[in-house]
Amino acid sequence: MTVGNILLDHINNKNLVCFGSTILVVDDQPANIQLIYQILGDDYKVLMATNSEEALNMCKTHLPDLVLLDVMMPDVGGLETCRIMKQTHEIADIPVIFVTGLQKLAEEDACWDAGGADFIRKPVNPKTLHNRVKSLLLMKHQSDFLKSLVYIDSLTLVYNRRYFEETLTTQFALSQRNSSDLALMMLDIDCFKQYNDTEGHLAGDEVLRKIAQVVKSCSQRPTDVVARYGGEEFGIILPNTSIDGATSVANKILSSLKTLNIYHPDSVEPYVTASIGIAITPKLDTVSLIDAADKQLYIAKANGRNCYEVEPTQTSLTAESVAG
Ligand code: GH3
Ligand code: MG
Ligand code: MG
Repeated sequence: MTVGNILLDHINNKNLVCFGSTILVVDDQPANIQLIYQILGDDYKVLMATNSEEALNMCKTHLPDLVLLDVMMPDVGGLETCRIMKQTHEIADIPVIFVTGLQKLAEEDACWDAGGADFIRKPVNPKTLHNRVKSLLLMKHQSDFLKSLVYIDSLTLVYNRRYFEETLTTQFALSQRNSSDLALMMLDIDCFKQYNDTEGHLAGDEVLRKIAQVVKSCSQRPTDVVARYGGEEFGIILPNTSIDGATSVANKILSSLKTLNIYHPDSVEPYVTASIGIAITPKLDTVSLIDAADKQLYIAKANGRNCYEVEPTQTSLTAESVAG
């Protein structure tokens, strides 16, 4: 599907895009959640959480399209929960509607200051809730869609290089701040020029699409990012991932390409394979991290392709040994 097609689909379905969206309802009183569920449950997928910690975890694992957040909760309240969301990169864009029994102007101001997109008063008027939710979801979907035009590679539908570079910068800063591991993999399809030469450019494009999907299916954490870095090269950002974690993803990719089994008569195996370079923080900057992964990719090519190379332990494994 091209970006043009996605645009047309979006325009044609603009009244439908909101239905089926996921909404997280957070309230310490299950009866309040139940009430909102009765109002919205027919049109949306409704998730529930009864405290801040649970809400933040559900945001990270389910990435809801919208959060309805109670202001008054024991321990960590709604305002603080919203502030934490807005400071957490991967969930910062999820709009929050506060559901509040508060009446004073200063309390209203606090909802905006915490990063809320809107608020609704208790007792909830079902019609008002429906309309507030609908208009915020429409805005969210339109903004997601515009981002996808800027950040999605139109051939493979994975992220493009612009998104890769911006995310790497953000995740690199986070890994430095939290002293956490950030792994980077650079993957390049083997002998792809010969594939295009024998099978044609359109068949080559189809291979790029399939490989992009395989790589995506092998790196499934919500914070993992798969991007087309250039021609037949992909960059995979794996936050909070050790060398062991990254090599396990690389193993999965090599075995999945073997299973995918796209016939390639002129490569190192009779099917389309790839070579992978892996590097990990700490590094001076993102350029050094990319350079380090590229260097390992170059070594993997020199070592016969269809394998990955890792720094600093410099181990090498082929899909054959992976498959046992
Ligand atoms: P190596 O194993 O060393 O990576 O060899 P290679 O042939 O894959 O590498 P080389 O850099 O010589 O050629 C890359 C080829 O990738 C050139 C071009 O035919 C192909 N390619 C790059 N971008 C696209 C694309 O968008 N579509 C198609 N079909 N092919 C592409
Ligand atoms: Mg190549
Ligand atoms: Mg290349």
